[in-house]
Amino acid sequence: MSLSVRLQPGLSKDAATANMIASDDDPIVAIATAPGRAGIGVVRVSGARIGPIAEGLLGGAAAARLQPRHATRARFLDANGRVIDDGIVILYRAPNSYTGQDVLELQGHGGPTVQRMLLARCLDAGRAIGARLAQPGEFTRRAFLNDRIDLAQAEAVADLIDASTEAAARSASRSLTGEFSEALSQLAQRLTQARALIEATLDFPEEDLEQIGARDVRERVQALQHSVDDVMRRARLGAVLRDGLRAALVGEPNVGKSSLLNALAGQDVAIVTPHPGTTRDRIERSVDIGGLVLNFIDTAGLRPTTDEVERLGIDRTLAAVAESDVVVELTDATGEAGCHPHDSHDPRLSLSAGTDWRSRIGPHASHLLVVNKVDLSGDAPGLRDGRMYVSAKTGAGLDSLRAELLRRAGWDHPPSDEGVYLARTRHLDAIARTQQHLQQAATQLRPDGLHPELAAEELRLAGLALGEITGPVATDDILGEIFSRFCIGK
Ligand code: GDP
Repeated sequence: MSLSVRLQPGLSKDAATANMIASDDDPIVAIATAPGRAGIGVVRVSGARIGPIAEGLLGGAAAARLQPRHATRARFLDANGRVIDDGIVILYRAPNSYTGQDVLELQGHGGPTVQRMLLARCLDAGRAIGARLAQPGEFTRRAFLNDRIDLAQAEAVADLIDASTEAAARSASRSLTGEFSEALSQLAQRLTQARALIEATLDFPEEDLEQIGARDVRERVQALQHSVDDVMRRARLGAVLRDGLRAALVGEPNVGKSSLLNALAGQDVAIVTPHPGTTRDRIERSVDIGGLVLNFIDTAGLRPTTDEVERLGIDRTLAAVAESDVVVELTDATGEAGCHPHDSHDPRLSLSAGTDWRSRIGPHASHLLVVNKVDLSGDAPGLRDGRMYVSAKTGAGLDSLRAELLRRAGWDHPPSDEGVYLARTRHLDAIARTQQHLQQAATQLRPDGLHPELAAEELRLAGLALGEITGPVATDDILGEIFSRFCIGK
């Protein structure tokens, strides 16, 4: 039975917490480690009252001997006192725990059956106090509601778990330790200071803004604009780092598309978790290039065909081209591979493999022409006249290709993830609104149209927009969206 009370839209966290005592104090139980066989498996319990669960599981005497934050060897017992497992227990007392509540961590042997037995036993022992299975992300949600972490840090927990490259993992760790939140909090303070300066003139109408230092205020707002632009730049890079770039590799059959992907992937085929909206079978291959993931969408070779199945594949390619950030067009330097669509007069081809696939490339996408098989043609490898000459077979020119792809993604080569915040669309949107309000404030402060009261209001709105990222005022929708994507037990 779930007693979950939903947050009201726009409700402040404090009000929400007060409102949610019934549900957010329930003891929740979950297996915290991944399913399957492993050396160790962890079952975690969190709640305002978890004493009966510890007593049921360990026996009253052993439970009473538990010292907070000490690892204690113990036998985990079933309802009849039979031993389920022999492991380690750690008790964390509120507020010094991950969730800010009392937490019991049971480290047993990592077998699916024994872990399920432990889980069932915890639920059974806690039945009288309303123990229930945790929902996805519920431990972290409690950490947020109990002020252990802010919303950006909560998101970083999920991002760290999902990180598919080392650079993404490092960035997520930095957000988790509060680096991103700290940068935002400093900006918020400066916004407040600038606003206070302006409001001082509103409180003393006999002084005008010019007298008490309009230049100072303008300079502050300008400096803030620069700082927010910088945060936006880092966050944009972080969004690419988090989600990777969507890429399409297009070319006629036999030009070497598979060979090129294999050569780029090397041993470092990235681990990919499917993103919402894209199913796993759409992703053919993900390639880690210097810490950046390029998700090459499954594309069929482009050539004229009357084969229905092949035409469906080509239509998919065209759709992939339309939604890609980077389109790599591959040709064969010897001119031998493939044939050209315009050689054919079959009218059915114009629907799919028409020659106008380039017109499907999105306005912000980057199109790179790559000429393959230079080992056969004798062309020198590297970038020339906007074309990249490579050999998928010998590897010639591939480093230049990697560097060019990174450059087009906005990364220097070699890329550095230092100072990059692993941002989400939600963050980019909030930062963009902060930029807009700052721009409005700057406009209102111009000498030709001084409207200090409007400028102060814009600065207040800028602060609110920025605050959405760390989330002191979070809506039900936002919290639901964030925590539902977590795994159970986190
Ligand atoms: P796809 O149909 O575009 O995926 O092409 P493949 O990757 O299957 O390659 C077609 C043929 O070209 C295969 O026999 C490859 O070994 C060969 N090939 C691919 N790249 C190169 C290259 O750089 N040099 C040479 N000599 N052969 C290549």
